[in-house]
Amino acid sequence: MIDNFNYNGNCWWCGSIADSREHKQKKSDFIREFGRNPSNSTVIIKNEKEIIVQGPDSKHLKYEKPILCKTCNSETSQPFDLAWDKVLSYISKEANAENLIHNLDFRLINKIEYKPIKRNFLKYLVKHISCRLASNNLKVPISFLNYLNDISNSLEGLTIHAFYRADIAVLKSLSKKLHNDKYPFLFSRPINGFKNEDNDWLRLHSGISIGIIEFRYVIDEIFIENNFPGINAYNEYPYFPITKIWEPLSIFKDKMEIYNPDKKIPRLEDEQYLDSAYNKNFYEWFNKHK
Ligand SMILES: [Zn+2]
Repeated sequence: MIDNFNYNGNCWWCGSIADSREHKQKKSDFIREFGRNPSNSTVIIKNEKEIIVQGPDSKHLKYEKPILCKTCNSETSQPFDLAWDKVLSYISKEANAENLIHNLDFRLINKIEYKPIKRNFLKYLVKHISCRLASNNLKVPISFLNYLNDISNSLEGLTIHAFYRADIAVLKSLSKKLHNDKYPFLFSRPINGFKNEDNDWLRLHSGISIGIIEFRYVIDEIFIENNFPGINAYNEYPYFPITKIWEPLSIFKDKMEIYNPDKKIPRLEDEQYLDSAYNKNFYEWFNKHK
């Protein structure tokens, strides 16, 4: 269950006064996609309305109220931020490369350091997701704090999956061909979920896209090794299996190929994302292939 909670101006991570306004999407991602000084093109965020953003420090790119303290937002989370930047620059460079369409292989980012990079990368996502919870007046689960603070080695109560946005890849290559220009893309899915009779959230799901890659996640306390044997191995596995998706899928469904070259690695299906995220067989594969 995800409780309603008002942090009342305190940092969700350490409890100090929150005095740092966190970017909803990382500033470095904004710069990589849109550039440092977007001047020739108007940058628009489509939320409920369209807003013109002047540059990477625009207040429209940050949460309305501070939800983190400066220390947590800089020093404490620095290794996670660095890992995220490493992975995202790799993704951006490899955007149309075959290997990225099938898997996000952390060993290709750094052969020796891939384990800590993957862990810190996951921790960045846990921090990002926690900020979204806190800003929506929801309590960050204790299991997230334990993972961030190295009290637990297992990521519990959360599962994250990677998708390749074929639609964005096509728009990017068209934009390059036609205008010799980039097609910048950052996107956060709305948070959706299920409530019980007492109006408590039982589970929440959402996602974040950066260029051609989208990470989707489900928050539910049921996601622990006992219930889903293999989920720890999945989180520690050197790569994320990637599912190719196209939005809106309904229009292009018959154009989509189902790519699984070695037939061995399980894939999630986009349309049944939630069912797939709860599919025990998916995680069990990683236990057998540790
Ligand atoms: Zn703090």
